[in-house]
Amino acid sequence: MPSALHFRTIADLAAALDAKQLTSVELTQAVIARTQAVEPRVHAFNSFDVSDALAQAAASDARRAAGQARGALDGIPIGLKDVIAVTGQPLTASSKMLQNFVSPYDATVTTKLKQAGAVLWGRLNCDEFAMGSSTENSAFGPTGNPWDTTRVPGGSSGGSSAALAAGEAIATLGSDTGGSIRQPAALCGVVGLKPSYGLVSRYGLIAFASSLDQIGPFARTVEDAAIVLGAIAGHDERDSTSFKTDIPDYRAALTINRGPWKLGIPKEYFAEGLDPEIAASVEQAIAFYKAQGCEIREVSLPHTQYCLDTYYVIATAEASSNLGRYDGIRYGHRSTAAKDAVDIYAQSRAEGFGPEVKRRIILGTYVLSSGYYDAYYLRAQKVRTLIRQDFLHAFRDVDALLTPTSPVPAFKLGEKADPLSLYLCDIYTIGVNLAGLPAISVPCGFTKSGLPIGAQLIGQPFQESNLLAIAHAYERAHEWSAQHPAL
Ligand code: GLN
Repeated sequence: MPSALHFRTIADLAAALDAKQLTSVELTQAVIARTQAVEPRVHAFNSFDVSDALAQAAASDARRAAGQARGALDGIPIGLKDVIAVTGQPLTASSKMLQNFVSPYDATVTTKLKQAGAVLWGRLNCDEFAMGSSTENSAFGPTGNPWDTTRVPGGSSGGSSAALAAGEAIATLGSDTGGSIRQPAALCGVVGLKPSYGLVSRYGLIAFASSLDQIGPFARTVEDAAIVLGAIAGHDERDSTSFKTDIPDYRAALTINRGPWKLGIPKEYFAEGLDPEIAASVEQAIAFYKAQGCEIREVSLPHTQYCLDTYYVIATAEASSNLGRYDGIRYGHRSTAAKDAVDIYAQSRAEGFGPEVKRRIILGTYVLSSGYYDAYYLRAQKVRTLIRQDFLHAFRDVDALLTPTSPVPAFKLGEKADPLSLYLCDIYTIGVNLAGLPAISVPCGFTKSGLPIGAQLIGQPFQESNLLAIAHAYERAHEWSAQHPAL
């Protein structure tokens, strides 16, 4: 039986649109109806604009009727995390600080999706300023995991993963600073890709930690992720970290590159704290590649134990600097209780930011302060170099690394109340950001209680074609992506 429209893939829907079996307006209406039906239980969106989406869909249909369709994304509803700017739409970062902010401009990824003809659909919930691993830090309330709405969807891009898993969008974009695309993808049973640092422009992305932030796609399949990546990647002079590199046809690469590959299994990623059902599913994925003729090698990333500490020094330092602009004067909420000019800063920030954001700003200000800079920030930068060297060393012998994405499946809302237990969820994803590498989470099974499990493949810098091909080989031999939550 074919899936409902809202659960189909970009590749499949694009073919139906081209064959005139379907219009973008019909597809967009189906996604809107699905969203309206399930959103009270999922709460993946901070806001959406039905008439704007239908107008974009009608424009796409008009293009297609005139023989001017722009490719696979033309007419496909795609949701954006609420940290990515879209002209005339709210841009809140799920913070009271930006509650009433409307973006006056488009992010580069937004411009590129518009040029590709995508129907931009909704503003997706996340942890406030992308700080968190559960979407519970949103000022507008948490998102539920579509597989069990009493559980978290992961984070910080939990709205992006949940909306996709629930059929409220056909693909979505998120941002990943320490795992915020891959971890929620794993917890919601979808594909999530964090590109190499520098591949996708961050112009128009609300900055969290600028040396780590990347934008990337959530999709139902690796092929769909390849399609979206192809549309958003590429050099942009408005992001000085954007890399000048040719963008290959990622979709075509899926079938050209057939392996067999050499895969490394980092022994530090299978240590204490890993859920046994997740370990077993990832072991099965390893066995699959082995059966395909891939060479499997154990490798070591000896500085893994320092990843978390290093990340939480660097990320908070950069956040404290980036969030300085939200002071009630340049940007953001302005307190009406302030008594004088200095008080405007203090009161506006006290009222506008939530507890986790404040914790990070205080930590980050501390590690940058004079007398502590060398002991914390500079030392973290040195350890970061060692962490990156671990990966590059491993890549002398292997094409990619295979690991679990998250040590635990989706946990209950409210279960991880102390910050440290949440930070530990990032243990397998953070090293990739510190090293600037591409990595993808692909569904690789379910727990006995029916919660999705993800496997992470980590690739060499700018070798997304290879990475996607390796992931695709696994995915097409399994049925995980064809399963959807009952809701
Ligand atoms: N969970 C990590 C954090 O809280 C990563 C967040 C992210 O990637 N945006 O910082």
